Amino acid sequence: NGFVKLGLAEPLVQACLDLGYTQPTVVQNTAIPMALAEKDAEGHNYVDLMVSSQTGSGKTAAFLLPVLHTLLEQQQDAIAAEKAEWQRKIDEAIANGEEPPKKPRRKNPTDRRHFKAAQPGALVLCPTRELAQQVAHDAIDLVKHCKGLRIAHVVGGMPYAVQIARLQNADLVVATPGRLLDLQRSMQIKLDKVQFLVVDEADRMLDLGFQEDLAEIHQLTADRRQTMMFSATFAPRIQQLAARVMRSPQKVQI
Ligand code: AMP
Repeated sequence: NGFVKLGLAEPLVQACLDLGYTQPTVVQNTAIPMALAEKDAEGHNYVDLMVSSQTGSGKTAAFLLPVLHTLLEQQQDAIAAEKAEWQRKIDEAIANGEEPPKKPRRKNPTDRRHFKAAQPGALVLCPTRELAQQVAHDAIDLVKHCKGLRIAHVVGGMPYAVQIARLQNADLVVATPGRLLDLQRSMQIKLDKVQFLVVDEADRMLDLGFQEDLAEIHQLTADRRQTMMFSATFAPRIQQLAARVMRSPQKVQI
């Protein structure tokens, strides 16, 4: 299977098969290995990518799959580390002849006393509410076998309370820039843990006047970050935006 060859985690490959994707499309075959290629040995820093491709090319999965793959890997590493630490505490207590510690109860995220700002690891920015909904929908389809990876979307016109509840514990957030900045300013979301930033349909973003919002959002994300920009063209104004939000991006023209 072509998705296995791309090195994607098994739950993601399975989701692709469930969706009837038998083989990766051209943009997926090209962009996914580039997106997953590590820049340094620590496994956190990836190259920035600038991709020109049309709607219908499979571009959404081309950026969602590598991001979800890495989030999943990180989550599995974190769970393994937590388990090992827990086992260490139990072994230590037994060795000291003490009562082994009891597992703490999981906090209920809907309880307001436990409210904390959402801190997603990945952010996908879309120019319109419809596109954000579509991308979030695709992401939800792709994580259906990934236990624990949560997707949320944030768009203008949806009641705040609903969005804030969904944002809690989200790993990947799909948003339109304006509403995202509203939530950031009211401290419902923090962007400093965002290590994957995707700008979808960058040309339409500029048409709609989101240039300054994009620059502001970009400033708020983590320093160690991979940015991917998708656009129908590489027109000069897109290149200018790219220069503001990316570090020597690799270019893919489909
Ligand atoms: P997009 O270019 O992301 O708007 O995707 C266009 C359509 O292609 C969507 O309906 C996807 O579900 C579908 N699609 C994406 N990747 C594949 C694939 N590898 N094989 C078949 N269909 C796909």
